Amino acid sequence: MKDCIFCKIVAKEIPNYTVYEDNHVLAFLDIHPRTKGHTIVIPKVHAETIFDLNEEIAKDLLPSVKKTAERIEHVLQPDGYNIGWNHGDAGGQDVPHLHIHILPRWEGDGGTNMHGIIHNPGAMNVDDVAKLFV
Ligand code: 5GP
Ligand code: ZN
Repeated sequence: MKDCIFCKIVAKEIPNYTVYEDNHVLAFLDIHPRTKGHTIVIPKVHAETIFDLNEEIAKDLLPSVKKTAERIEHVLQPDGYNIGWNHGDAGGQDVPHLHIHILPRWEGDGGTNMHGIIHNPGAMNVDDVAKLFV
């Protein structure tokens, strides 16, 4: 997509430090890293969110995230990872091209885990929420 910064990275109009690349996916170092080796994995086709991504490429995404993490594991040997993505404005997504963050973690690095993102479960209890899915 023309004005998308990540599409421009795929098109090599903007340079990147590539960590891993295959036919459908590019993984590169985040320009404002939150940890050493903070990496972003994107599908090469433009899709704003996972809901916009075609099934075939969606199927390739997790294996490519795994290969990217294996590359980071080999080069940086972190103690752990947080892997995930921000979806939509409410989820804190800034760049409107689906991207998975891989955050290498080290013991005692001062960070938190996924539970640190939000703790606001609302008034409904889990039993009532479960009924909505029946
Ligand atoms: P979001 O909040 O959308 O999940 O995260 C967007 C991420 O993209 C941020 O961590 C930001 O540092 C990164 N980013 C934004 N523009 C560029 C860029 O031009 N190059 C690289 N390598 N990363 C970028
Ligand atoms: Zn794009």
